[in-house]
Amino acid sequence: MPYDNDNIFARILRGELPCNKVYEDEHVLAFHDINPLAPLHILVIPKGAYANTDSFAHDAPPAQQAALMRAIGVIAREQGLADNGYRVIINQGDHGGQEVPHLHAHILGGEKLAAMLVPR
Ligand code: AMP
Repeated sequence: MPYDNDNIFARILRGELPCNKVYEDEHVLAFHDINPLAPLHILVIPKGAYANTDSFAHDAPPAQQAALMRAIGVIAREQGLADNGYRVIINQGDHGGQEVPHLHAHILGGEKLAAMLVPR
């Protein structure tokens, strides 16, 4: 999938749209999801132009790949989620239910979450 420079998270990264920021470093920006599905619902995105996990895993420099994972752990501790736990979800593509074509990890927590998927 070619990267769409006008997707909503690209516009947030360029400062054209606001976000409720919780964390930022050289490689990563994180902000509250506009439509939270848990008491805490944070999106963690790389600053590089990667549409999804596939392109990020294959094309991003290792320092950027590591930074995304590291940021998830840092944010979870900062937000008080580490002790009781939380869930990290990355939706990829059509079957994964991805809506915004800029890679983003959802951090969900603040209460005991429902089962991830309905049993088949
Ligand atoms: P996904 O279905 O994995 O692509 O998730 C996209 C997420 O982006 C959804 O949870 C939306 O609520 C969230 N979202 C869409 N627009 C914004 C925005 N402007 N600020 C924060 N979160 C957003």
